[in-house]
Amino acid sequence: MSQNDVLFDRAKQTIPGGVNSPVRAFKAVGGTPRFVTKGDGAYFWDADGKRYIDYIGSWGPMILGHRHPAVTAAVLAAVEQGLSFGAPTEREVELAEEIIKLVPSIEMVRLVSSGTEAGMSAIRLARGATGRSKIIKFEGCYHGHADALLVKAGSGLATFGNPTSAGVPPEVVQHTMVLPFNDIEALEAAFAAYGDDVACLMMEPVAGNMNFVRSSVPFMKRCRELCTAHGAILAFDEVMCGFRVALGSAQSLYAKEIPGFEPDMTVMGKVIGGGMPLAAFGGKREVMSHLAPLGAVYQAGTLSGNPVATACGLATLREIQKPGFFETLHARTRALIDGMTTEARAAGISFCGDSEGGMFGYFFMDTLPQNYVTVMTTDATHFNRFFHHMLDEGVYFAPALFEAGFVSAAHSEQDVADTVAAAKRAFAAL
Ligand SMILES: *Cc1c(COP(=O)(O)O)cnc(C)c1O
Repeated sequence: MSQNDVLFDRAKQTIPGGVNSPVRAFKAVGGTPRFVTKGDGAYFWDADGKRYIDYIGSWGPMILGHRHPAVTAAVLAAVEQGLSFGAPTEREVELAEEIIKLVPSIEMVRLVSSGTEAGMSAIRLARGATGRSKIIKFEGCYHGHADALLVKAGSGLATFGNPTSAGVPPEVVQHTMVLPFNDIEALEAAFAAYGDDVACLMMEPVAGNMNFVRSSVPFMKRCRELCTAHGAILAFDEVMCGFRVALGSAQSLYAKEIPGFEPDMTVMGKVIGGGMPLAAFGGKREVMSHLAPLGAVYQAGTLSGNPVATACGLATLREIQKPGFFETLHARTRALIDGMTTEARAAGISFCGDSEGGMFGYFFMDTLPQNYVTVMTTDATHFNRFFHHMLDEGVYFAPALFEAGFVSAAHSEQDVADTVAAAKRAFAAL
């Protein structure tokens, strides 16, 4: 019997579902989750000692791969100085300065410990700063599991409040509007009806929680125009795509297409912690000044700006600024997607994919989807069989078809070639 089965059975006795975050349980694809014993570079090993090429990278943070020497050294040095103080440290200031240098729309930033906390706090701040209650989000975009954001769209144009999770009272989400992604008409209708009550529009500019779906440039342009016209805050959730799709994050890509483009607020996480619990939200000085202790919007955290986490994040951000880092990462990720697409089509299978920087998505369909409803029409049977074939081959892709994938700087050309060769065998088996 596999040690993974032994551990999973044991875990299920004490941890709900055997996991501390649902997608790890393999519920969508079936089978037993792999218990990881160690990682190194582009690989991790499971409890049976089997090696996998890791394409989830802890769901995004591990952009340098596992055990990067500079990151490990920075963390060990920080540990030697003490784990947490609950008083300010210079390293928090350094990290704030680094984030602001790389993402110019951020003038001030507050550090927290998870993306959920950052998204939740950003919404509270937007509401406090505007004195308005309503928020707009898009179907298929995930902003953490704060109550007000766990909302699914019903049918119809601007749908308020159907909680996606039990335990969220309808009153808590009554101000949350959910719209289809990349749908300019629905967006215009929502702003026409409620625009002057909207505190903030929150979006993943490159959505990574419905696989991989970019906002179109015209859609983004309209989001910006309507927020500006109605005095609503445009908040980018770059927890996943921040420092992942480009050094300047996704907003730098849209700024190239739309002159003067900037969001008003940005939520960060994942890569900025380099694998430690660290996230942030920031934006215009005027908005951020509403935050306690300067202003009336309360927000706090015992471990916020933790000295070990900030050391890890700083070391990571320094590495990704090295010349050519994103060019190489982008080319390698693109080679993976192009290689898989070529092999799938040669095998007569409907398949397409997209990537930016070190983030990618692939779909068992002919053309790239533009929204959640279309993503969900992908062939789940093909996806699940492909996933398990690749897992057997020692390639660990995301265990659900609505998740994005990640390539790190530690993935070599050979790793990508091995993955494409394995995918060719998997497509033949389909
Ligand atoms: C992962 C993620 C979050 C939540 O971050 P946690 O650290 O898991 O709480 C929020 N928004 C987006 C876009 C994410 O990908």
